[in-house]
Amino acid sequence: MSTIRFNALKETLNRKPVKVEETKRRSEIFGDHVFNEHAMLQHLTKDAYKSVMNAIQFGTKIDRKIADHISTGMKEWAISKGATHYTHWFQPLTGATAEKHDAFFETIGNGRSMEKFGGGQLVQQEPDASSFPNGGIRNTFEARGYTAWDPTSPAFIYGTTLCIPTIFVAYTGEALDNKAPLLRALQAVDQAATDVCKYFDKNVSKVNASLGWEQEYFLIDSALAAARPDIILTGRTLLGHSPAKGQQLDDHYFGSIPSRVMSFMRDLENECMLLGIPVKTRHNEVAPNQFELAPIFEEANLAVDHNSLLMDVMEKVSQRHQFKVLFHEKPFAGINGSGKHNNWSLATDTGVNLLSPGKTPMKNLQFLTFFINTIKAVHDNEELIRATIASASNDHRLGANEAPPAIISVFIGSQLSAVLDELENVTKGKLSPQEKTDLKLNIVGKIPEILLDNTDRNRTSPFAFTGNKFELRAVGSWANCAGPMTVLNTIMAKQLKDFKEEVDALIAKKDLKKDEAIFNILREYIKQSKKIRFEGNGYGEAWEKEAAKRGLSNNKTTPEALKAQISKKTIALYEEMNVMSKVEVEARHEIELEDYIMRIQIEGRVLGDIARNHVIPTAVSYQNTLIENVSGLKEIFGKEFKKLAAEQIDLIEKISGHIAEINSKINAMTEERRNANQLEGQKAAEAYCNKVKPFFDEIRYHCDKLELLVDDNLWPLVKYRELLFTR
Ligand code: ADP
Ligand code: MG
Repeated sequence: MSTIRFNALKETLNRKPVKVEETKRRSEIFGDHVFNEHAMLQHLTKDAYKSVMNAIQFGTKIDRKIADHISTGMKEWAISKGATHYTHWFQPLTGATAEKHDAFFETIGNGRSMEKFGGGQLVQQEPDASSFPNGGIRNTFEARGYTAWDPTSPAFIYGTTLCIPTIFVAYTGEALDNKAPLLRALQAVDQAATDVCKYFDKNVSKVNASLGWEQEYFLIDSALAAARPDIILTGRTLLGHSPAKGQQLDDHYFGSIPSRVMSFMRDLENECMLLGIPVKTRHNEVAPNQFELAPIFEEANLAVDHNSLLMDVMEKVSQRHQFKVLFHEKPFAGINGSGKHNNWSLATDTGVNLLSPGKTPMKNLQFLTFFINTIKAVHDNEELIRATIASASNDHRLGANEAPPAIISVFIGSQLSAVLDELENVTKGKLSPQEKTDLKLNIVGKIPEILLDNTDRNRTSPFAFTGNKFELRAVGSWANCAGPMTVLNTIMAKQLKDFKEEVDALIAKKDLKKDEAIFNILREYIKQSKKIRFEGNGYGEAWEKEAAKRGLSNNKTTPEALKAQISKKTIALYEEMNVMSKVEVEARHEIELEDYIMRIQIEGRVLGDIARNHVIPTAVSYQNTLIENVSGLKEIFGKEFKKLAAEQIDLIEKISGHIAEINSKINAMTEERRNANQLEGQKAAEAYCNKVKPFFDEIRYHCDKLELLVDDNLWPLVKYRELLFTR
């Protein structure tokens, strides 16, 4: 009998939901572990408080002396909450979060000690972080990188550690993390959007991007997960036959949440409340043991931090409940994968959501301006958007008949499509008074405040307008939202900047009124960006053909998709918007290619190992039993045995056939890996993608066949039905 698998299964039989105490109301504990405005008011001097608030609102620098006051207040608050250590919390380009803890505790001579935390330690640290990926920017022997406090994301306590959100940059100034470019992109979009808002409302002085992510994930019993080396090492199953029952009954989706999972969710939500992550919804997803969690949307930078933090917290909380949480986009073949929809919008400091239709024609012209500019931005940069969602793991999901395809398009619904069609016919140049009135009353004025047909959710669209926000649906569940948010806000900033220039030029040169000029530019944008709009079904070949005819890109693999990240156009865009320099862009691209290569390389090795060390020996051992059986029959029945042992003999042959295939394919794959390892960068990634990876499915096919043939008692790997249906 396979001991690992059956021991693991036995362990799961006695699981009970872990008790979670909830003594206080959520609203009472919300943000209790966050150094938020409320805590700052209590623990900071007036000057220190003002200085932080100004830094948050206007990006002003914080004076070093004041930083000393802030750090002291922060330390006292943290210690009062039980913290003993502090850390600069950052998001290096590994995609995960990083932290190195230092104690507040310091000795002060004469055998005495005290808790200390100075302004210098708050503002800047130099982690010995030479092993984080840097794409060649920071040679280990040269300058080191440092982390710098980001006051726009509040410090928080996790466990007994005060975590200070920071950015991670090289001493030469280049960003080494996901956050620094994001902050620059948010600044760019703020500037550009505020300028455009001034056409409509002079009082607007700041525009914030907002992000509401929806995190999908799987929960697998930890004992079962631990018995699968592929899950532990790669985050997904590399083999496993589909269960007799999959998701075809759709009985899991929005069904009642299993009790162990419910306790996990409550525990998690408690932690989130303390950390100020405003989680709001939870439910079962389509696949068995798949779930989703979503917060109330927040300012994008904070939302990005909160998602990274959440993923950390989920791993920790899941351990308390004997679960392993899987963030991989496609942990199980043949079963729906996981995504992370990024709901995105722009809002003014006067409280207006710029992507929400308003009550008056003027408000709606503002809405249309931002709406159409978004479509134009996506149209002009579809390949860059595709690049930002590309990863080895998301490749399994995009276009897999459940998630959006690798073709980027925009869905806006029939009502708004009709509005844009009308606007396409606006007269060139000056508008007659009658046309103006007509536009105001019958087109712009008729945009309903609530757009009914956003409910006809087009699930196949990678970028959909959903009533008061756009939803980028192609983001993978494992991704850091900083990437897509940096791209989206940068392209929007560029687009709005161009728009403003074009409108101003029409006003100045053609002597048009402001709204005439706006209508004129919008009309052109609608025409120019028409090909990105698609309301139909994104699955299957029909759309692929149509998209090719329209000239839309269809970059199916990560190595293909990532090319757009370093095109001349992209580099010019990032440089113009002050988001990244050429060096930073190229370094990131190199890191992402490297990440891709390493993931496929690891998967190849793990698959080879499992197939050779688990699957083949198990098959051989079962085959031996069969052989014994056949020779036994021969002994007893003599010539007659052939008839009696026909099935067994057939099985013995089949098993041999599969073993031979597995062996030869592993050898061929290893050879291709060797070849790929001789290459570098793009070429290596392409070799891994096109030469190594195709063997995965082939090897898997034969392993999965063996799973069906071999005695269940002998099979060492926890089966799909066990992983997916253990509650
Ligand atoms: P549903 O899609 O389930 O009907 P909603 O449309 O209210 O629910 O929201 C889905 C997600 O979009 C939520 O995470 C929510 O926080 C987010 N969201 C709603 N409005 C905005 C906005 N203006 N900006 C960014 N995200 C938003
Ligand atoms: Mg959604």
